[in-house]
Amino acid sequence: MKNKPKILFLFSDTGGGHRSAAEAIIEALNLEFPDVFETEMVDIFREYAPSPLNFAPEIYPYLSRMPRLWEVGYKISDGPRRTRVFYDAIWPYLRRSLRKLLKEKPVDLIVSVHQLVNTPVLRARLNADTRFVTVVTDLVSTHAAWYHPGADMVIVPTIPAREKALKNGLPDRKIRVIGQPVADRYTQPQKPQSVLREKFGWRMNLPIVLMVGGGEGMGPLEKHAYAIDQAHLPIQMIIIAGRNKNLKDSLESYNWQTAVKIYGFVREMPEFMHASNVLITKAGPGTISEAFIAGLPLILYSKMPGQEDGNVGYVVNQGAGIWAPEPEKLVEGLRMWIENPTLIQSVAAKSKQLARPLATREIAKALAEQIPSINYHSKQIEV
Ligand code: UDP
Repeated sequence: MKNKPKILFLFSDTGGGHRSAAEAIIEALNLEFPDVFETEMVDIFREYAPSPLNFAPEIYPYLSRMPRLWEVGYKISDGPRRTRVFYDAIWPYLRRSLRKLLKEKPVDLIVSVHQLVNTPVLRARLNADTRFVTVVTDLVSTHAAWYHPGADMVIVPTIPAREKALKNGLPDRKIRVIGQPVADRYTQPQKPQSVLREKFGWRMNLPIVLMVGGGEGMGPLEKHAYAIDQAHLPIQMIIIAGRNKNLKDSLESYNWQTAVKIYGFVREMPEFMHASNVLITKAGPGTISEAFIAGLPLILYSKMPGQEDGNVGYVVNQGAGIWAPEPEKLVEGLRMWIENPTLIQSVAAKSKQLARPLATREIAKALAEQIPSINYHSKQIEV
């Protein structure tokens, strides 16, 4: 038995999306090609960047609470030349640690699921035989740093992302439009709503409105939740505070008039989505893609400026939901849906049309094709 081909996933915990994308792809690789590949995930900032860049995962939650600053940084760096200038400036600072990473981990394929990884790692690449694939984990308004022309393949989730890749000088032959990676459990058939609601102790006879602010409970979720409560709609609210303990405590001490259940971070998100009728969320790419698979109508109440701008337009233009950053507008939109079940159904159908449940498996197959030592055919692979 030969050594297994090795795949290194480079990510960073700046937001939950990059880690979960890498985990989802590894899971799909194991499902499609059991026991074929050896995979490893490295948080490139935390484990290999010199100080203070190694604090990026710790700094990110603070930065993400300063949307204006974030937006300015995002926009002034978004362009192929600007990206090059930025990396030229920090290259002397990164070179040693990245070369160390690549020496310590000789692999057949590097997969980047973080936009800041591509330029410096491709520059540091010691061995041209090591393939490099980028999997873009933002849906629409994707930053130029995702699209380094040295990558062997760049996988994007949507057509608008492909257009951005072309605009940034990536040749068409290197681009594959497949979809957003999501964990396999989001793509599995679910039990009927009534069974799930009974399991969770939710109301059978009321529309369920699920609220979530990403894994970290971000965005002004609280004020929107209270505005909905004040509207006295015939609904049950299911509010997920994620890992935000302060938010959970605060929601729990509020005097609710509407039927409500409050949770911290939940593992059962696929079941929660299937048991619900409407999803109110910040415009995170993971949550939006999962909601499409569950066929949930979406109300987006906040976004990270820059990278999540396009997600809002995508959802709204495709008729899969509405954008309601002000609590009054959110309540108005929700009321309209609750009073008009046919409208909810038609928005749900449009959301379902955008679902790409097979995307992660397709990404796994596309990665396997990149490894020349593999005689590629899914599930009956010979090494
Ligand atoms: N999520 C979860 N449990 C929770 C809250 C969130 O599993 O309690 C998942 C959610 O389903 C999604 C991810 O966390 O897969 C959040 O990713 P997204 O891209 O939407 O936002 P981010 O947190 O990365 O900004």
